[in-house]
Amino acid sequence: MKKRILIVGGGTAGTMTANNLAKKLMYEIDKDEIEITMISNSKYHYYRPGAMYVAFHKASGQEFVREQRTLLMPEINFLVDEAVQIDTNENFVKGKSGTIYKYDFVILATGCEVAVDRIPGLKEGGDWFYSYDGAKKLAKKFGQLKKGRVLVTVNFPKTPNVPHQCGIAPIETTIMLHDHLKEQGLRDDIEIVYTYPKVAQAVTDGLFLQGPTSKVLPSIFDGIGVKYKTSFTLNKVDPDKKIAYSQEGEEIEFDILMSTPPFIATKFIRESGLSKAVDDEGWLPTDKKTLKVKGYDNIYTLGDTVDLPVSKAGGTIHNQTDVVADNIASEIRYGYPTESYDGKVIAIAQMGLSCGMPLWYDYKEDVKPTPCSKLGSFVRKGFNMGIYWAAARGMV
Ligand SMILES: Cc1cc2nc3c(=O)[nH]c(=O)nc-3n(C[C@H](O)[C@H](O)[C@H](O)COP(=O)(O)OP(=O)(O)OC[C@H]3O[C@@H](n4cnc5c(N)ncnc54)[C@H](O)[C@@H]3O)c2cc1C
Repeated sequence: MKKRILIVGGGTAGTMTANNLAKKLMYEIDKDEIEITMISNSKYHYYRPGAMYVAFHKASGQEFVREQRTLLMPEINFLVDEAVQIDTNENFVKGKSGTIYKYDFVILATGCEVAVDRIPGLKEGGDWFYSYDGAKKLAKKFGQLKKGRVLVTVNFPKTPNVPHQCGIAPIETTIMLHDHLKEQGLRDDIEIVYTYPKVAQAVTDGLFLQGPTSKVLPSIFDGIGVKYKTSFTLNKVDPDKKIAYSQEGEEIEFDILMSTPPFIATKFIRESGLSKAVDDEGWLPTDKKTLKVKGYDNIYTLGDTVDLPVSKAGGTIHNQTDVVADNIASEIRYGYPTESYDGKVIAIAQMGLSCGMPLWYDYKEDVKPTPCSKLGSFVRKGFNMGIYWAAARGMV
């Protein structure tokens, strides 16, 4: 009988995996033995890291959007619909349209969302670049600021050992901000204060979520005059007085608060009953090797929805997608999964407006910080402007 593979979410994870699956299973698709369907709640696909460039007036945002249908191989059915319920006994996902999508295998890839409401005053007093709207608002404020202080804060999920979206983004944007202000001739009049919470995954009292990078950051920040403070776990903002308060009892005044806000899984996942993450954060309990949702043999997940200790990043998904696609293809062909994820993450961090640093780590080994370079920035620009779309199509 024909097997149905359903992918929920047409972002980086869903798109790469749908295309990889279609390629691997083309023989069976041609014989009408397999059907691949994707549902996503948007007709459009956003290259999310592009928002960082919008915040510093280096892009308008339109260059980072494509119609989702154009990114998928023609063999994949694509429907715009919002998943509202999953029934793991009857093996179906229900869409907001009322449609029932039956599956033999389902891949849950709905990413995560910003949850600013979880910190009192942050919505009114803070800014963030993790969405295009947020980045545009921030860009406008940067355009108006002529002197004062930009405060950088970072929040982590309460679920132990789960990172926020794109672990390196707060450092990338702090250094991009320094370069941007220098370009504008404003750097001497605007102070940048980078703060980090007390507990950041495995690191306590550091400046980054991994030890080796945390240790080199003071020398990098000293070199560009960025002030820094560890153990500042943001827990309240006074938007009128423009003061940020920490759980540790400190307060810092700001003119602009550039925050990495709390993140949670999407509503559909939080209400699915599949997660037991603390504080209703909704991260899916994920087998670190097979990438199956724990306790379910025919449910896979990857990308920002998982509870794994690796970065919620495209550079992670690029290494997870083949594991999921190979495992589903093997289960269909041989009856068992064959691949195992080792926690690998590969990316190029944008360390300032014209410097790129390769990142490479896995479950066992942390990133080894290396000097950033213009060549790195050139490759990163190539990824932003074109390679990403090839990667989403499963070509790179
Ligand atoms: C500012 C910023 C900078 C970043 N920088 C980097 C970087 O430098 N390097 C890097 O590797 N990564 C970076 N990332 C992270 C990277 O973009 C994400 O990790 C990646 O996009 C996550 O992919 P995903 O498919 O899990 O989620 P998404 O790309 O968010 O896709 C989720 C999809 O699910 C859909 N969806 C949501 N709910 C439903 C529902 N109920 N039903 C149907 N569809 C639904 C959405 O419309 C969307 O299409 C950055 C992210 C941001 C925001």
